[in-house]
Amino acid sequence: STLLAASGDSDSIKVFVRVRPLTQGTGLTTDGDQSLCLNVSSPNTIRLLSKPEPRTFTYDHVADMDTSQDSVFNSVARNIVESCMNGYNGTIFAYGQTGSGKTFTMLGPSELDNFTDELRGVIPRSFEYLFFLIGREVERSGKSKSFLCKCSFIEIYNEQIYDLLDSASASLFLRENIKKGVFVEGAVEKFVNSAAEAYQVLSMGWRNRRVASTSMNRESSRSHAVFTMTLESKESRNEVVNIRRSQLNLVDLAGSERQKDTHTEGSRLKEASSINRSLMCLGQVIMALVDVSNGKSRHICYRDSKLTFLLKDSLGGNAKTYIIANVHPGSKCFGETLSTLQFAQRAK
Ligand code: ADP
Ligand code: MG
Repeated sequence: STLLAASGDSDSIKVFVRVRPLTQGTGLTTDGDQSLCLNVSSPNTIRLLSKPEPRTFTYDHVADMDTSQDSVFNSVARNIVESCMNGYNGTIFAYGQTGSGKTFTMLGPSELDNFTDELRGVIPRSFEYLFFLIGREVERSGKSKSFLCKCSFIEIYNEQIYDLLDSASASLFLRENIKKGVFVEGAVEKFVNSAAEAYQVLSMGWRNRRVASTSMNRESSRSHAVFTMTLESKESRNEVVNIRRSQLNLVDLAGSERQKDTHTEGSRLKEASSINRSLMCLGQVIMALVDVSNGKSRHICYRDSKLTFLLKDSLGGNAKTYIIANVHPGSKCFGETLSTLQFAQRAK
């Protein structure tokens, strides 16, 4: 079913484009081809060297190859973590083809297990900042305010939901009720008291994702990983207790690359079509939300995919959303880079 959304905040959806270095790390090979298909022409424009003429795309922010992890965190996540502290839901997505740097942006280099590393990504940095703000708030309130944080970590693969914090569990279902909104029924929720405890939950889920990728054939580049931090604050003042709840969703999306239809058959084909369908749904929900924030009234089809339904309470309305569109600058990636830039443009 669909919902008629209320009018939202005009800057509730923002788009950040990040260009990865041409040759660093593994992933997409350029076969020694050093030619580029784009350049960053200003802090919010990118010039795609298309033929016959270059095309310019404009976003909230464009980060060139040499942008540090710290600076990505500051532009994208800092405000969202702050607004979570103020009771608003937030979501950060990493979108892009496989090898474009989604996991690097969200988590860090794939071999990362040491979260003090300079190269740690948006997720560990968000934990640190969140717990810094919590500590400061508790202190300031003279302990009349307290916080409760819990994490869940799920994977959506082929429109099935798996719990990354309990690798033995069968696939799970989404439910919705007045009290909790939309939630994954039976998903493990881990209480955490510090950034260090949150890292442990993150690493455990990440290891499970890697294992499931080989042993259960849930190839991780084809699944969405959704880490959710639920924050509850409780403030007692003059015998009155005020409770506020918010959620921060950190999402490493499935690779956005098109499948070569002639070589995909059977289960692979099903896989490809459900990935494309769920990314397409995300794009449609985002476009509808953009219209709503521009004052139009639109039906928003959250229920058309597991991902958009799960995130329904964190997309639109008062929620803050940041899309990080990751692109590879190599000429060989022109087609996928164009398609990512177009996806990101639709969200503007
Ligand atoms: P994706 O998750 O989109 O498939 P990855 O994040 O795994 O892509 O990136 C592919 C490879 O490129 C990895 O080895 C990663 O460490 C490296 N890489 C990606 N972005 C950057 C960057 N900005 N700086 C350095 N290395 C990067
Ligand atoms: Mg990845």
